[in-house]
Amino acid sequence: MAVTRRTSRDIRSESRLDVLHALLAAGEASRGDLAAETGLSNATVATVVSDLLEGGIVTEARLTSGRIGRPTTTLRLNGNRGRIVGVDVAETYVRATVFDSALDELFSAEVATDEHDRDPDSVIDGIVRALDTALEGAHATRDEVLGLGISLPGGMQRWAEVSLVVPNPTWHHVDRLRERIDLPIVVDNPLKAIATAELWFGEGRRHKSMITVNLGTGVGAGIVLEGTILRGAQNYAGEWGHSLLAIDGRRCRCGRNGCVEAYVGAAGIQQTLAAIAPEHRLASEHMQREFIEALAAALAPPAPDPAVTETIERTARYLGSAIADLVAIVNPEMITLTGWTAWALGDHLVPAVRRRVMREAPGDAAADLPIEVSTVRGNSVATGIATIALERFLGDVGLVTTRVPTAL
Ligand SMILES: [Zn+2]
Repeated sequence: MAVTRRTSRDIRSESRLDVLHALLAAGEASRGDLAAETGLSNATVATVVSDLLEGGIVTEARLTSGRIGRPTTTLRLNGNRGRIVGVDVAETYVRATVFDSALDELFSAEVATDEHDRDPDSVIDGIVRALDTALEGAHATRDEVLGLGISLPGGMQRWAEVSLVVPNPTWHHVDRLRERIDLPIVVDNPLKAIATAELWFGEGRRHKSMITVNLGTGVGAGIVLEGTILRGAQNYAGEWGHSLLAIDGRRCRCGRNGCVEAYVGAAGIQQTLAAIAPEHRLASEHMQREFIEALAAALAPPAPDPAVTETIERTARYLGSAIADLVAIVNPEMITLTGWTAWALGDHLVPAVRRRVMREAPGDAAADLPIEVSTVRGNSVATGIATIALERFLGDVGLVTTRVPTAL
């Protein structure tokens, strides 16, 4: 795709998405509220709402009578239009979460998987089991599912010999999955999912260009530019965890030396602690999440562990420098941190990260740049991938020009 031109269809589609975003944020709103919130004209909002009502995407909720003038009806998303499922395929588990069509979570189920078993059929089994368990818990049937979003990590996409048809990623084995589950399926990666979750449920509602940094076992960045998720030619945009922090630095699990992930991924943080205090009891903790939780606990007053304090300071320097590079390239309005490391350690990391970014980002690019822990909680990968599936559904029924992969 070379040059894209905004057509009237795109603009109409964008207006519909703007109204949906505003309605999702407000829960319930009148047409006038939606016009005020989106900046669209009353006439445009009226047209958009009538399209969405016709499609069963929104419903009229109730009449409110103002002090003057005629009563107005409020609108809300129609949660009973159907069900949307988001599936987070991680290295050690598959989690399926069922949402109603207003994206309210109904039920979530997790199936443990063997991280050494790379057989596609095992992954497919895990997805099917998690899906059926979650649907049962939500008292829903497959017939009610409008869309199924599946998030596969980058590594697994490589393992799956993913064929990346520009700009749409295609998981080869999805045909086998479709044979078992006859549902509209969309596959994407976790970075795009967290960026979508931030766009619909977090700071993305207020910022057009922003970055969500994911900190866990893996590290990456979900990048939103001018309201659109940056994908790149082959959907690899945002693989910032594998950009260079230190020439000839630590070995990264991707095979390269000196990647950002080797310093601020959970295993990298543990390596930093081991370098500071080789005999520290936490240096040999085998479970990464437990390790990160234990670090947070060790920082609690009245006697914070000095080796852990030093580990956090160094990690904040690494993270701050790596984020300064992102700022130099993208110049975002806002940066949020998400993932279990951010939730556990974010409050300890953020002040020092901010100072570092201020010092190292070009010019005054970071002068007023907010860097905060994301307010989107829960499994933001499942939420984000479900949202992508909902967007895809809206595309299928002709309500939006879909910006999500359509090859599947
Ligand atoms: Zn790497």
